[in-house]
Amino acid sequence: MLIVMQSQVSEDKIQKVIEFIKQKGFDAHISRGADHTVIGCVGRKVIDKRDIELLDGVKEVIRITSPYKLVSRVFKPDDTIIEVNGIKFGGKNTGMIAGPCTVETYEQMDATAEKLSRCNVKILRGGAFKPRTSPYAFQGLGEEGLKILRDVADKYNMAVTSEVMEVNQIPMFLKYVDILQVGARNMQNFNLLKSLGETRKPVMLKRGLSATIEEWLMSAEYIMSGGNRQVILCERGIRTFEHITRNTLDLSAIPVVQKISHLPVIVDPSHATGLRDKVAPMSKAALAAGADGLIIEVHYNPETALCDGAQSLYPEEFAQLYNELKELSIVLKINFN
Ligand code: PEP
Ligand code: MN
Repeated sequence: MLIVMQSQVSEDKIQKVIEFIKQKGFDAHISRGADHTVIGCVGRKVIDKRDIELLDGVKEVIRITSPYKLVSRVFKPDDTIIEVNGIKFGGKNTGMIAGPCTVETYEQMDATAEKLSRCNVKILRGGAFKPRTSPYAFQGLGEEGLKILRDVADKYNMAVTSEVMEVNQIPMFLKYVDILQVGARNMQNFNLLKSLGETRKPVMLKRGLSATIEEWLMSAEYIMSGGNRQVILCERGIRTFEHITRNTLDLSAIPVVQKISHLPVIVDPSHATGLRDKVAPMSKAALAAGADGLIIEVHYNPETALCDGAQSLYPEEFAQLYNELKELSIVLKINFN
């Protein structure tokens, strides 16, 4: 249920409404827009809508029949803009994240980050805990990998993102990373989502391999219902009958999600296509379709990569793509950062 307050209503009246719904056993989530303050009233209890309508300062009470509430534009009409290390995602801002699939050694991260920093990349990616299809494939360096990622990022004034796989890893991740990444395979790990909802760091939620947009948004709702407002959605391709590309990049998800939700949607063309030469065209297409950001795999020497070398760009290719995207952003009238 959404409680729309009258415009210019006093803080005192807002607090009285919050107290009232809390007493009835609901959680209150506040969205302060330019015109109206909206209070999201979320819970499993039953309440007579008229009891709220009668409270001082309340303009209207709307029952939401759609399954997602806090992620929806009804709750928050304005775009959510998430800023990390000066890079903005959302609104008219398209942010860039780049780096290797996985952290291998300090030297590998340093060599890659050095090239990326020359392109002005401010957010470095690198997996330390890898959800590999085969138990015999490289599983990541674990905490040691997070330390390397952090040290290298600090050297180049970068922020970092890395995938967290389990609830008990969260405290460790909070020490090292700026964006907590939820991988496609964990999109419906509800305990993980609930625990991430209790943190106050941005969460990048990748779309599940065969998740519908509604399921993806419901996973974002799990995080937001815990009080964490900073969710970045990431379209990374879905599984279809097509096998030439690793996945099928669903670019239509961008405008679809942006209509329903205020959350930023970024695109991962690397995992979506699985092929290096498809990354540049799909990055441009993503920007044109309105993506709020990109996350791209880059390795200083992809032939030696322990993971996803075939889809990782050479630093020179990335630099060229970065320049082309910058030019494209002028035509699209967006802030590419
Ligand atoms: C990744 O970004 O490292 C990754 C494993 O991607 P996904 O979860 O989308 O497969
Ligand atoms: Mn990868």
